[in-house]
Amino acid sequence: MFFDIYNLVRSANLTPEKDLDDAQKTAVHLAVPLHDVLIGRRLIAKDVLGNLMAKSMGIEYIDLKRIMVPKEILTLVKEELARERRVIPFAHEGGALRLAMQDPKDLETINFIRKVTGLTVIPFLAFERDIKFGLHQYKSSLADTFTKLLEQAKKRHGHVTLQELAEDVSVVEAVNQMLEYSVIQEASDIHIEALPDLVLVRYRIDGVLHDMISLPKDLHAAIVARIKILSTLKLDESRLPQDGRFKFESEERDVVSLRVSVLPTVEGEKVVLRLLESGEPEFSLENLGYDSASVVTIKRILTRPHGLILLTGPTGSGKTTSLYTMLNLLNTGEVNISTVEDPVENHIRRINQTQVNPQINFSFAEGLRSLLRQDPDIVMVGEIRDADTAGISTNAAMTGHLVLSTLHTNDASGAIPRLIDLGAEPFLVASTLELVIAQRLVRKLCTHCSVSKATDPNVVNYLVASVSEPAEKELLAKIIPAETRVAPGCNFCNYSGFSGRTGLYELFTINDEIRQLILDRSTAKKIKDAAIRNGMHTMLFDGAAKVVAGVTTVEEVLRVTFD
Ligand SMILES: [Zn+2]
Repeated sequence: MFFDIYNLVRSANLTPEKDLDDAQKTAVHLAVPLHDVLIGRRLIAKDVLGNLMAKSMGIEYIDLKRIMVPKEILTLVKEELARERRVIPFAHEGGALRLAMQDPKDLETINFIRKVTGLTVIPFLAFERDIKFGLHQYKSSLADTFTKLLEQAKKRHGHVTLQELAEDVSVVEAVNQMLEYSVIQEASDIHIEALPDLVLVRYRIDGVLHDMISLPKDLHAAIVARIKILSTLKLDESRLPQDGRFKFESEERDVVSLRVSVLPTVEGEKVVLRLLESGEPEFSLENLGYDSASVVTIKRILTRPHGLILLTGPTGSGKTTSLYTMLNLLNTGEVNISTVEDPVENHIRRINQTQVNPQINFSFAEGLRSLLRQDPDIVMVGEIRDADTAGISTNAAMTGHLVLSTLHTNDASGAIPRLIDLGAEPFLVASTLELVIAQRLVRKLCTHCSVSKATDPNVVNYLVASVSEPAEKELLAKIIPAETRVAPGCNFCNYSGFSGRTGLYELFTINDEIRQLILDRSTAKKIKDAAIRNGMHTMLFDGAAKVVAGVTTVEEVLRVTFD
């Protein structure tokens, strides 16, 4: 490394010393630049570090990802030279060339470029990743590819079918290029919109939509057809919305999953492609981390015509995702599902979703009262947090509705005293409650860099000691394997060692013994003991099982289960 980033960041006091030392260790261990680890772990913002480094060299920093370099500037330095010397020319003003450099102290390169171009060179610091991104711009640009496509498509205009158009080599290449660029730019969505006179392609990058390219309107059909073929949608259907998905093999980042939504508009079909983060949960209980026994239990209880199902856990524990996944399972078209939520996080087709509005006194309780007059079979209430909502929910569950909701309690059995504290009658709770799920989210080990390592006996002892129920303790000691997984971090997981998240669950089902305990107003502890006797696994135990399976780490499990 040409530069002592460690001491620079240390003296600037921008990152806690422990984090900095950890990052340094990882960087040395993986033989990667420290700045990649610092930025990847979000210990310091990229532009803050860039500016800090550049300033210490007496120059400026440039973020190449934020600019599109015009072709005439790019060609001032030939691609081979740019690639060899790790530089990108990005502006030309008053006889001076602004040159992004991976190593701005490389005087030989500066002199060489000055000789070749006949221009004064002003060096700017750029990160290696951004130089790579810049080098991609030398490849035939998106606009060029599409122009070529236009010419070829025009030649055949009038005597090709949509199918032929979608399989045209240049159409295939153009769409691939569009996808590849979106991956390089780290876009989250691609919008392809038909306007009266043109087609606009926009990328959402860091939450903001950017215009990428505008195309002649007559290319619209070809692009939409190609995307429909990729996602196996009906080619000849252009009047109804369609949803699909497909996988794209990117040069930059392996396989990328895309979700496709096509919506007819007056100007033609609008296509939105969502690039899914690897590991982003899809709508299925299995993908959310429920084990197969839990999935069977949940599906069985969801077939009941009435009763109360509760999800508990702190904010950000994934309760809403679980709820939506269950609603999707119930959404067969034969039942009327209504929700009252704050906020409506996810729009689901064929479900009547209502948003509460405290400003006009439209509360959970009010919303629930009105939607019960709409003859629903299944009701989802975003959260039970007051006596009114608790009362109406349990009454609705008693009178022939399946009610799903969330509650703020730490573990599953805690839901019962909480409901009673809120004023729900114990007999109502005992006769309506069917299932309580407590949950937390843990980070999943990165599958790209995780490796097996001999299990640390201290960690095992600690984990076994943390499980307080004797039956679980015994089971746990049996299943801990000699090797568990660790992840040092890699380019794919931003050097964190983790990628994506999964849930830890505690499924509490109600039987006759527990119903009696509820009627007796027993303590949460007593109810929990009974549940464990009846086979309930605690969240901590589910976490231990996921450590054994190499999905996550002991530290992650302990972090989320003791709060
Ligand atoms: Zn990794």
